Amino acid sequence: MKATSSIAMVDLQNQTKKIRDEINAAIHEVIDSTQFIGGEKVNQFCETLGDYLGVNHVIPCNSGTDALQIAMMALGIGPGDEVITPDFTYFATAEVIGILGATPVFVDVDKDYFTILPEDIERAITPNTKAIVPVHLFGQAANMEAINEIADAHNIYIIEDCAQSIGCTVTEGEFIGKATGNIGDIGCFSFFPSKNLGAFGDGGAITTNNSKLAKVCRQIANHGQGKRYYHDRLGVNSRLDAIQAAILQVKLTYLDNYVNQRQRAALKYDEVLAPFEWITSPKRLPYCNHSFHQYVIRMQYDLRKKVIAMLNSHNVAHNVYYPLPLQKQDAMASYPKRSCPNTAKICQEVLALPMHTELTDDQIEYIASIFEKITL
Ligand SMILES: *Cc1c(COP(=O)(O)O)cnc(C)c1O
Repeated sequence: MKATSSIAMVDLQNQTKKIRDEINAAIHEVIDSTQFIGGEKVNQFCETLGDYLGVNHVIPCNSGTDALQIAMMALGIGPGDEVITPDFTYFATAEVIGILGATPVFVDVDKDYFTILPEDIERAITPNTKAIVPVHLFGQAANMEAINEIADAHNIYIIEDCAQSIGCTVTEGEFIGKATGNIGDIGCFSFFPSKNLGAFGDGGAITTNNSKLAKVCRQIANHGQGKRYYHDRLGVNSRLDAIQAAILQVKLTYLDNYVNQRQRAALKYDEVLAPFEWITSPKRLPYCNHSFHQYVIRMQYDLRKKVIAMLNSHNVAHNVYYPLPLQKQDAMASYPKRSCPNTAKICQEVLALPMHTELTDDQIEYIASIFEKITL
C-alpha cells in the first residue's frame, strides 16, 4: 500500500474546503457589520454552545488557558491555596494555578485511560485544597461521580478542563446525558484550531450553571467591569473575536459529524493495530463516549523509539503527548513533588497517531503497514 503524500496530525485544509462558502459568508457578515469585538455573533455562538452542552451560562474568552485562569480567579484561588491537577496533562492546566500564586498539587492518572485517579486525589487533599481540575484528556471524561463525591465531602470546587473533550458526554450513572463541562462548578473550553471545535485563531469559553459565578467570570474577562468604566475587581482582557465566533457558529453545526469521523477513524485504527501484540490501543471508559481528540497508543519505550524513526522516514506525523510529567517541568521545580508512577511510566510509552476528521481508511491501513516493518 502506498500513501501518495505525507500524513499530518490534523488536516484542516480539507476540512475547511468542504465548508468554505459558509465560512466565507459568516466572516463577511462580520466585516460588513464592523462589530469585531463582542456583539451579536459572539452572543449567538455562546447561546448555541450553551444549548449544545445543556449549560446555562457560556462566557466567551480568548483561549482555553484564559478560561482556566478566569475560572480560578472567579473562585478566588490565590496564594496559600492548593489546586489538584493531573501530573499528566497539557502544561496550561497547572500553569495558571502557579500564575495565580496558588500551589499545583500533582496527582497520578490511570495508565489505561489517562484520566485523574480519584483515590490519589483523596490522598492529596489537605485543609488548603481549594479546587480540583479534572482534565478530560484526549476526549474521555474523568470519573466525575467519584470526583464529585470527594469535592462534596471536602467542600472544594471542581473546574473541568474540557479543552480536549468537546463532544464527550456521560452515558451512564449519576450524570448520564451530561456533556463534559456541565458537571463541575465551571467548565473550560479551548477553540485552538486543532481542537475538536477549532477556530481560525485562538478562542475559549467558560461554562457554568451558577449565575453568580457566571457574572463574576464575565466581569473578570472584561477588566473586572460591572458597569462600563466602573471596575469592581481586577480582571483581564480576554475576548472571543466576532470573526472567530462566526466561524465557530458554522463549525458547531458540524461538530457531531466531526466527532463521528474521529470515532470512525479510531475504530479503523483499532482494527488494523489489533494484530500487533506489542501495541496497546486506547481503552474506552464504560461511562462516556470518546470524542477522540487524540488517538494515543502505548508501547515499550525502546519500541516507541523505533516506531518514531520509522514513521519519520515515511512522512507520517506523530506526537508524544506528553513527554514529561508536569512536576518534572523546570517551571514547576519550586512546587512539592508527589509520587505519580503511572504518569512517569506512560510519558515513556505514549504515542499519538494522526487523528482528524479527514483521515481515510487507506491512510490508516498505510500507517499499519509501517508498523509491520518494525523488528521487535
Ligand atoms: C489546548 C489545551 C489547553 C489550552 O487551551 P488554549 O486554547 O491553547 O489556551 C488547556 N488544557 C488542555 C488539556 C489542552 O489540551
